[in-house]
Amino acid sequence: MDDNQLLRYSRHILLPEIGIDGQDRLLASHVLLIGAGGLGAPVSLYLAASGVGKLTICDADEDDLTNLQRQIVHYTDSIGRKKVESARDTLKRINPETRVEIVAQRVAGALLEELVESADLVVDATDNFATRHAINRACVRFARPLVSGAAIRFDGQISVFDLRDPASACYHCLFPESGELEEMRCAVMGVFAPLVGIIGAMQAAEALKILTGIGETLNGKLLMLDALTMQWRSVRLRKDPACPVCMGGETAQVDQSRTSCQAG
Ligand SMILES: [Zn+2]
Repeated sequence: MDDNQLLRYSRHILLPEIGIDGQDRLLASHVLLIGAGGLGAPVSLYLAASGVGKLTICDADEDDLTNLQRQIVHYTDSIGRKKVESARDTLKRINPETRVEIVAQRVAGALLEELVESADLVVDATDNFATRHAINRACVRFARPLVSGAAIRFDGQISVFDLRDPASACYHCLFPESGELEEMRCAVMGVFAPLVGIIGAMQAAEALKILTGIGETLNGKLLMLDALTMQWRSVRLRKDPACPVCMGGETAQVDQSRTSCQAG
C-alpha cells in the first residue's frame, strides 16, 4: 500500500482484527454483486469505500423516480440511465481505486456461472426467487460464499451460506423451489427506505468479514428483522439432507411463473 492507501484505509488498519494484512486481502478481492437496487446500493457503497479491489455489479434495470426513495447509490439525474452505469459513476467518486465492472443484463446460465466462478464472494441483492435460486446453484457448484439479503415492507432478513464448507446449508435448503412461498409484488407492497440500508449494510459487513477471515459470520443462521418494533429473530439453519442442489441430487425444476419481489 502507498501512503494515500494507508491514509484512506487507516480506520480499518487501526482495527487489530483487520490491520494491514486484512486490508491487503480486501484490495486483492473480487466481489460479485447481483442487483443494484435497494440492497445493492448500500452494499456497493460500503464495499467500494472499504477498498474491495474489484466489484462486478449486475442489473438489467434503468433508474426511475420510484427508486430514489431508497436506492441511495443513484441520484435524481440518474433517471433513465442504466442502474449499473449510475452506480459505477457514484462508486468511482467515492473510491477510484475500486475497479467496477458492470453487466447491464439479468444474469443467468453460462454467464452467471462464469461470473460466480471468477469471484471470491457473491452478494445476492436481487428481487426474485428464480434468480436467487440460480445464484445459489452457481455458488454451490463453485463453492463460493453467498451473502443473501431480502427486504419488503418492514420485514428484512439476512443470511450467509458459506458454501466453501460442504457442511453448510444452501439457499435451497432454506427456501425449496417447490415450497409454498407467498407471491409478493414490490410495486404494490412498498418498502421502508432505511430497511434496505440496514440489511444492505449488514450484507456488506458479512462480506468484509468473510473476505478478511475475521469474526463469526451468519453462516448457518437466518436473522429476521421487524423494523416496526426493531426486534430481531435468529433461526438456526440446517442442511437439508434431501436438498437436490447441495446434496448432489437432481436439480429441481425452477418455477419460472413465481415472480416475487424482496428487494424493492
Ligand atoms: Zn441445499
